[in-house]
Amino acid sequence: MSLADFIREMPKVELHVHMEGAIQPETVLQLAARHNIALPANTVEGIRNWYNFTDFPHFVQIYLKISECLRTPDDIELMAREFLKGQAAQNIRHSEVTYTPHTHYMQKGLSFADQLAALNRARRWAEAELGVTMGIITDISRNVTPEQGMVTAEWAVSAKEDGVIALGLGGPEVGYPAQRHAAAFDYAWSNGLPCILHAGETDSAQSIWNAIRYGKTWRIGHGVRCLEDPTLVAYLREHQIPLEVSPTSNIRLKVFPSMAEHALPRLLEEGLYVTINSDDPPMFGTTLTDEYLQAAETFGWDADLIEKLVFNALRVSLLPDTKKAQLEQQFKTEFAALRERYLN
Ligand SMILES: [Zn+2]
Repeated sequence: MSLADFIREMPKVELHVHMEGAIQPETVLQLAARHNIALPANTVEGIRNWYNFTDFPHFVQIYLKISECLRTPDDIELMAREFLKGQAAQNIRHSEVTYTPHTHYMQKGLSFADQLAALNRARRWAEAELGVTMGIITDISRNVTPEQGMVTAEWAVSAKEDGVIALGLGGPEVGYPAQRHAAAFDYAWSNGLPCILHAGETDSAQSIWNAIRYGKTWRIGHGVRCLEDPTLVAYLREHQIPLEVSPTSNIRLKVFPSMAEHALPRLLEEGLYVTINSDDPPMFGTTLTDEYLQAAETFGWDADLIEKLVFNALRVSLLPDTKKAQLEQQFKTEFAALRERYLN
């Protein structure tokens, strides 16, 4: 067995992936046909090309077009089911998935309750039929008003016993500091809901400080630009605050010119808590499996390090402790079996 097969077959956990950003060309075509919406292309290949990320405004345009195709709770359920099938096919046994309910509420008046119920139908179906679990991170887009952000925080808290595991912060990082939404994060935190903010991808190390200070972030979405500030690196190391690193996303957003020049080796050398993720996989032409494959090939990673990174993700997931311990035990057994096949 090759190292590539080891990676393909190993059990995985994903902590940073966007539901609407993970919608496959096949699904978007199906939804567009359902609602008679014209897309820039009408074949899988054509959609794949259209998806191909060029810059942030193009990304937003695609994102909004996809949102337009999601009209009803059934559409959301279909999207979530297809997403979870794709995760299961990669042996991703648990996913913590960012979802932006406010967009769908504003665009077409879909109530949060209807959206949540659709996601939960898909979640329960996947758990029963595919053996994979999902936690939902409802996120605030940085550019909405603080009042709108608070609406998402209230929704998230109201659903914390019903599939929502955290309040997130996404969207354009530059010009919209985390403190705009400090009240929303305070509200979530004081009601027992963890907060997980994107920070330090397209904006500087200061953005990560803001996410820690004003968002009480439990993990950091990206965080790769922490390396610009040695004091921050020391803080992240001391507190072992997890970084949700999404290498291809960083490269497509021009944070690093190529995988070979990505900061992953430095983050590991600095003793930081690293996890590997895919972010918006079809738009960046990637999958979680591909992220591991490419990093392993580029940096010469061995099976030990790859296994460690998988466990890193599992251990800082927001699964309940008993479920986490159970999964950890299963993963240990499966990795031992894989290792046996790989080494022989
Ligand atoms: Zn993201």
